[in-house]
Formats: sequence, C-alpha cells, structure tokens
Amino acid sequence: MGLVKEAITKPWVLERQLGELRSELLAEGFRDYVARQVFQWVYRKNSQEPSSWSNIAKAGREKLAGLYDWSPRPVLQVQGGAREARKFLFLLGDGQKIEAVLIREKDHYTFCLSSQAGCPLACAFCATGAMGFRRDLTAGEIVSQVLALKKELGEYSGRLNLVFMGMGEPLLNYNNLARALRVITEPDGLNISPRHVTVSTAGILENLAELERDFPQVKIAFSLNAPDPQLRAELMPVSRKHSLDDLLAYFRGHKRRQRITFEYVLLAGINDSPAQARQVARLLHGIPAKINLIPYNANPGMPFKRPDEGAVERFRSILLERGLTAVTRWSKGQETRSACGQLAVGGFSC
Ligand code: SAH
Repeated sequence: MGLVKEAITKPWVLERQLGELRSELLAEGFRDYVARQVFQWVYRKNSQEPSSWSNIAKAGREKLAGLYDWSPRPVLQVQGGAREARKFLFLLGDGQKIEAVLIREKDHYTFCLSSQAGCPLACAFCATGAMGFRRDLTAGEIVSQVLALKKELGEYSGRLNLVFMGMGEPLLNYNNLARALRVITEPDGLNISPRHVTVSTAGILENLAELERDFPQVKIAFSLNAPDPQLRAELMPVSRKHSLDDLLAYFRGHKRRQRITFEYVLLAGINDSPAQARQVARLLHGIPAKINLIPYNANPGMPFKRPDEGAVERFRSILLERGLTAVTRWSKGQETRSACGQLAVGGFSC
C-alpha cells in the first residue's frame, strides 16, 4: 500500500521546465549542473532510467530515481506498420486517450501532435470536433508524445518537424503548450529548432499574439477553410467569437520573418468552386501567405465529400494565377484514419 501511494504522489519530471528542475535539485543538495545533465538524458538521449546515467554518481542516481516519476505516458497501440504514417494511441494518467502521428517524408520525419483530449471547437467536418472536449493536455503529456515517437526512430538524428495539427486547439491550451515548447526547443532538452515547429490554429486571437511574442520563430498555420465569414462560421463555430475580419486584420497588422500558412480543407460543392478560389485570393491580398489545400479526408457519418482531382487542381491554379503560393496536401495515413481531421481515438480497434 505504502509503495503504491508513494508512486502515485511522486511529481512527474516531464512537467518540469529546466529552471524549475534546477531549483528543486539544488534544494535537494545536487550541484547546479545536474539538472542540465538530467535534461540531456531524459530528452536528448531519450533515457528515462536514472540507474543508467553514467555521468552522475551512483548515490545521486539512486536519489533521483526516488524523487520523481520518470516515465513518459505509455503507448497503448500503434497502427500503420511500416507505412508512411503510423498512428500512436496514448493512455493518460486519468484514463483519457489521445493520438499522435509519425509521418515519413522524403528527407525528414514529421510528428503530428495533440494538444487537447478531444476539442471544444466542434468544426463541422472534423472527427475530433465530433468527439467533444475532454480536457487540456499537460506539458508532460505533450512532450511524452515527442519522446515516444522519437523512440520509434531509434538512432535517427536527422531533422524532425513538429506540427500541432492533431487533436485539439493548441491556442486554447496556451500555457501548457508554451511550457511544452520550452522543453522542445531547449538545447539541453529536445533541442528542436523553433523554426521546425508549426502551431495550427482555428484562430484564437489573443493567444496568437502571445505565441508570436513568446516564440517569434515558431511557424503559424491558420485554418481558413472558407472564403467568407458566413460560410466559415457555419463550418467553424469558433468564427463567431473570433471573426475572420479581425484575424485577417491581425495577420496584416505586422511584418514577420516567415509567411503565415493558410490551411484550406477542400469540401466538394461547399468551398471548392472557382469563384471561391478567386475570393480566397482577394481575401489574402497583402498578406505574405502560403496556402495548403487539404482535400477532405472522409469521416463516417459526416455529410462532406472530397472534390475530385480536377476540382482541386482548378482551385489551386486560380490561386497560382493570382500570384499566391499554393500546395496541395494529399494527407498520408487515410487507411489507418490518421490523416488530418480523422483523429478521434475510436479509430483504434482495441
Ligand atoms: N485546431 C487546430 C489544429 C487541428 S486541425 C486548427 O484548427 O488548426 C489541423 C488541420 O486539419 C486544420 O486545418 C483543419 O481544418 C484540418 N482538418 C480537420 N478535419 C479535416 C478533414 N477531415 N480532412 C482534411 N483536413 C481536416
């Protein structure tokens, strides 16, 4: 009994920022540099087993092992085998489940990460929206996803791109997102360049400004999805609170180092007409933008369809003719329901 209780009440080290760990370890009598060594083991070397940390004295390792819970949240199931996209199901401490996707690209890997269990935004076309909101993820639960996917890649030390395009709206969980981003970009932590991190948002205005202030190099993707405020509000109820006009004014409002990516889910017969493509081009006039067209990934029970390739190409060419940069993203992982907007936990056959 006593042992079980102790295990449950130990603080979880993955929730700690480097500075916080340093203060706690100093208070426990460790030298100033030990927190950095611990971060390097846990994140850079992806080892959560203090007994194996060779540059820390044995007594110190034993003490560390007793101070914290060191384990990332466990992976319950993996789908997708050796395919281009593999989906991971995680079990959280309170029984909630979340998903992350590992995508193999030509010259790097992309990790598609979740920021919430479920999502409160209820976008009409999105599977996560349909499952409703469970809760925000903690910073530890966010970095757990990165550690687990990195473990899959073994000795791979090439480029990693992290995209917050999994379950949830990252900017509705800004504090925990920011804490996770600090560990992700910390040189003694995961050491991933902020330029290789993209936060995708439906547009939570005040937190967008905060993100840009705190992490000026992190890339922003904005889910536009419709060329006018009325249709956007029908598809994305959040648009009633944070209006498209205000968001576009915000994007026009200041110069940035990198362009904003505008994501646009193409839904047959709803937002994919040539007239709507011209409207998008007008809307984005004057904003340094890159447009990612995402042909809709079907979700059971939803009335939306993916346009045929001809319609997708026509839409794209209208944007190109008007001088915009537009790329079509045929999502990987549709067989395993791990493509954009298909994460909903139920997709796993447990
Ligand atoms: N809440 C954030 C991040 C999660 S969604 C956001 O709204 O940006 C990531 C992207 O997937 C968004 O651009 C969203 O519009 C898109 N998406 C959602 N469902 C989709 C689907 N079924 N097919 C294709 N893209 C989808």
